[in-house]
Amino acid sequence: MAHHAVNPPATGASLTIPARLWQQLHAHLFPGDHAAHGAVLLAGWTDGPRGLRLLARELIPARDHIDYQPGTTGYHALSAAFVRDNILRARDEHLAYIPVHNHGGTTRVQFSPTDLASHERGYPTLTQISDTPICGLVLTPQAAAGDLWHPDGTRTDLAEVVIPANNLLRLRPQPTAPSASDTSHASYDRQVRIFGDLGQRTFQAMRVAVIGLGGVGNLITEYLARLGIGHLILVDDDLVDETNLPRLSGATASDVGHPKTALASRLARQAQPTITITSLTERVEQTHVQAELRQCDWLFLAADGAAARHFTNAAVQQYLIPATQAGVKIPVRDGTVGQIHAVTRLLLPGTGCLWCDGLINPTDLAIDMHAPADRAAAHYVPGTPAASVLPLNALAAAEAVSHFMHAVSCLHDDDLDHAGVLHRPRTRTRDLINSRTHPDCRWCAPQKQFALGDRPTTNVASS
Ligand SMILES: [Zn+2]
Ligand SMILES: [Zn+2]
Repeated sequence: MAHHAVNPPATGASLTIPARLWQQLHAHLFPGDHAAHGAVLLAGWTDGPRGLRLLARELIPARDHIDYQPGTTGYHALSAAFVRDNILRARDEHLAYIPVHNHGGTTRVQFSPTDLASHERGYPTLTQISDTPICGLVLTPQAAAGDLWHPDGTRTDLAEVVIPANNLLRLRPQPTAPSASDTSHASYDRQVRIFGDLGQRTFQAMRVAVIGLGGVGNLITEYLARLGIGHLILVDDDLVDETNLPRLSGATASDVGHPKTALASRLARQAQPTITITSLTERVEQTHVQAELRQCDWLFLAADGAAARHFTNAAVQQYLIPATQAGVKIPVRDGTVGQIHAVTRLLLPGTGCLWCDGLINPTDLAIDMHAPADRAAAHYVPGTPAASVLPLNALAAAEAVSHFMHAVSCLHDDDLDHAGVLHRPRTRTRDLINSRTHPDCRWCAPQKQFALGDRPTTNVASS
């Protein structure tokens, strides 16, 4: 069983490494020989809520004795040819250049004086060549330290490495110390017994979005607020109608005609009076709504629309933000009820892409991108309202938030189990569903939008 220290999000610059790249990097650096190995990561970047976020996009392993060899200072070093080839790629593709090597040890790591001397010798020139950030990185299997140099000559420490896998790993130079002054509020006593003080502090430090505040999203909001998530971003442009009342927790007749965001905000504040809420009674197509999603640590997608799916998926793949999709399907045809599905799907950078899984209809997306009047006209066949009932919504919502809290507090047995969960209540069965990935997907495949962050798209065409 994997065991990882839980570290609350740290303020400062961070590097996010997608699970698939981390698996490859880990295998390359730690093959069991206790020797030194090297590699380069190329990364996009964006501004996050706690500082610059570097977004690892590609791993280039350095071949032992060819690209990574004994240096003149007595330590191993990347060969001049390997550095040249990759710094020129960083320049041409406008990506951050991240040379990586490993040290011995497990939960603590720091650069050696030789490492730091080589950074001071080499990095000012490298940043002039690439005109992008350069970040020296040293790793053990459970710790990371980074030395970040900017093209303007400034230099900072990397605060953490984030790995959005089935456990949401945060690697630091040393484990976060539990501090007596930071003990959680007494009301969380029973939760702290599962998640620890650091797990509870991690919930408090997180920014989490819920996209879609219908039957499933309303419950997810309440569960997250009661769990102690510190900042919720609530997105839905819809108003409560009378037929929603049986399925919306906390709703009364006086909510009819008012935004679903108002109800969800009230519900969250009742659960946790000090919570921070960003309420967005708008559609996800609005660029500032997308900008809010990119500032999150996790997204919950509980809306059916193609635009909501597309923009959530884009935040996952281009900005490396993990997400969970949750929904219920109750097919009823001519009064006959078919197989009922309550689904939660894990959307992780590089895996679990909604385009690859065929879950975004391009025609629906095109219609969604039109103005409201055009949208209404395009749906010329009035849809029959779908069947819906609270306990089925609760099945999907509870599965989604349960997975999230295990991931954040690193309680999942297997870091690399990325399956979604499908409940079929009529047959009382539960199956795991694995996602597909297409090698040429514009969103999740290497070399396309993946992990580009804010890089200008003019460069995408030339790469
Ligand atoms: Zn070193
Ligand atoms: Zn894809």
